[in-house]
Amino acid sequence: MSFKNLGLSEPLLKALRLQGYENPTPIQEKSIPEVFQGKDLLASAQTGTGKTAGFTLPLLQMLSETPSRKRRAIRVLILTPTRELAAQILANLEQYGQFLDIRSTVIFGGVSANPQITALRKGIDILVATPGRLLDLESQRKLSLHEVEHLVLDEADRMLDMGFLRDIKRILNLLPKQRQNLLFSATFSKEIKTLAGSFLHNPVMVEATPENTTVEKIEQTIYRVDKKKKPSLIIKLIKEGNWQQVLVFTRTKYGANKLAEKMGKNGISAVPIHGNKSQNARTKALADFKRGSVRVLVATDIAARGLDIPLLPHVVNYEIPNVPEDYVHRIGRTGRAGAEGEAISLVSIEEVDLMKGIVKLIGFSPRTKTIDGYEPTDVMPAKSATNNQQQNNSKNKNRNRPNNKSRNNRGFKPRRN
Ligand code: AMP
Repeated sequence: MSFKNLGLSEPLLKALRLQGYENPTPIQEKSIPEVFQGKDLLASAQTGTGKTAGFTLPLLQMLSETPSRKRRAIRVLILTPTRELAAQILANLEQYGQFLDIRSTVIFGGVSANPQITALRKGIDILVATPGRLLDLESQRKLSLHEVEHLVLDEADRMLDMGFLRDIKRILNLLPKQRQNLLFSATFSKEIKTLAGSFLHNPVMVEATPENTTVEKIEQTIYRVDKKKKPSLIIKLIKEGNWQQVLVFTRTKYGANKLAEKMGKNGISAVPIHGNKSQNARTKALADFKRGSVRVLVATDIAARGLDIPLLPHVVNYEIPNVPEDYVHRIGRTGRAGAEGEAISLVSIEEVDLMKGIVKLIGFSPRTKTIDGYEPTDVMPAKSATNNQQQNNSKNKNRNRPNNKSRNNRGFKPRRN
């Protein structure tokens, strides 16, 4: 299947050629025809599958081919959970739409609203927004949603995780009843299904390549190590492996700051990226990292969600996420578009149960290694990640267990659902 066969117009095909895209990804092949048909969509797709082009391409074309009722009224509203994702969607819209007369802009919180208001005043066809700033500017009458014809909810699961459900409902009430709705989500909890059921009309379900297939392409290694030795181990791995571009995940903002500082003291340029950083600091950190002037980006899950860093060679789970799906999102930053990628997880005794949950989700056990001088002293049986027969001969072993039931082969209970 080619982009041309999907019915995309010449200006879009030209832009795609400039991007170097040769063929549509599976989610694009499935979504684009349905969007063209005007159907509502319930799409299961995570970042890295090409989902953004799956909705931006057909929407750009539809707008360019049908006259608007009112000139430069907002006809497409794209809601996203984070500023970074919003900015990336806008960048894609601008790249793909460079030969079309379609205007797009982005609004999000954490920065001054004035430039955003100025951009809105000029007239906009496509608006990418995070929910809070959208409601804020709507209540100030700086924008109108009366002419919206297509609504996209991107990374809907993350929006609910971040507490945006009420905002989403308020936004839905501001939109015309007659419209196309596209919902993208990496996971489908009960809450997502309820939300989808409340506003999608006979949605077509589309699914990207199952997560596990994507995950299996990425080389994954677990290093068993004591918690206190993690900082020196990661520094050793980065230095000895001469890794130049590394994305490291921590569980907390504080942890991200502390680790970045420690790396800096050890001669590795590192910047933390998390929700407490100003938008400008986050944008700069990401730009420096992409350019190669910063070697390590230390991120929390929410900050990293949706970051578009193509061809990232190394992802390190410095701490194991509480939610198994986050592991899949994290390592999805590597091995994109057929590129080789390596994902490493530093697992301490306290995190063994969390790792079991991940193994259950991805359906296989990544190889486990230890490094000389970093062997864990909180000893665990060799088949640690899948073996539930271990003896509790250390007090530490039960610390931080999310749920003791997860030890009796009933598997991990995700936070969501
Ligand atoms: P997304 O899942 O939308 O975040 O896209 C992930 C990455 O894949 C982005 O860097 C896109 O620019 C890239 N991409 C999207 N569609 C294609 C395609 N058909 N061929 C190659 N790369 C693509």
